[in-house]
Amino acid sequence: MKVHVLHCGYIRVSGSVPFGSGGKLRDTARQLLATDRNRMTLPVCVYLIEHPAGLLLVDTGWCRAISPAGDFDAEAVARLLPRHLAALYHPFVPAGMTAREQLAARGVRPGDLCCVILTHLDADHVAGLRELSGAQRIILPEDEYFWACRMVYKNRQPWSFWIDAPIERLFYRGSPLGPNRWAIDLFGDGSVQLVNVPGHTDGQAAVILRNGARFVILAADAAFSPKNWREDLIPGFGFDEKFQRKSLRWLKEMEEDPGCMQILCSHDPEILPQTIEF
Ligand SMILES: [Zn+2]
Repeated sequence: MKVHVLHCGYIRVSGSVPFGSGGKLRDTARQLLATDRNRMTLPVCVYLIEHPAGLLLVDTGWCRAISPAGDFDAEAVARLLPRHLAALYHPFVPAGMTAREQLAARGVRPGDLCCVILTHLDADHVAGLRELSGAQRIILPEDEYFWACRMVYKNRQPWSFWIDAPIERLFYRGSPLGPNRWAIDLFGDGSVQLVNVPGHTDGQAAVILRNGARFVILAADAAFSPKNWREDLIPGFGFDEKFQRKSLRWLKEMEEDPGCMQILCSHDPEILPQTIEF
């Protein structure tokens, strides 16, 4: 299996988003109001996977319409995101870096993707979906879809990015994997498993890619960097601190497994575009 790590745009967020105390409203308000000096640029990672069943894409990053000229464009952002999310993310996508553009550069059309897996419905993970129509399957855990109606998620997950997409919702089932013992075994052979890692959102999935004893975990936003689980630092912009902690403990356990090759977080600035083969 090969995992190509792609940066499909960036967010420029308050320094307290990666290492800042769960989802307290007071902290979230400060994150929205942060001045540019107090912000850091983080990548929005998307993963293109060469799997025996075909090409898979995990998450979709930002779309071109949010950053037409490749830089932060407040007016373009305001057309797609409510004001509070625009203030939180300050998103931009340099030329050639949307998922669709990077796939095209590799000669891959959306219709060549056998599966697009959405880890959760936050805008930075699903905005690119509109540019990937034709993908053979779009997969989302039912739990993530179900809870999207809750006010706290309505405020952070604009429906316009995904509500009309032909999303296939799959149920988590009992599993030895994950902090909740809930997973979706996509092909029934253990090679691609969506594992529920709640806390950032209720239904969020991490993706475990396994080849024999070796595996890579795409942790989505359960953590922003290994520092979160190694130093017990709860990320900000979460929903449930207790669950965030539980998910971090699980990632820590998995990192200690001798088969674990790497755990990749969606917004870790240390993770550069690269290919992992295993
Ligand atoms: Zn994110």
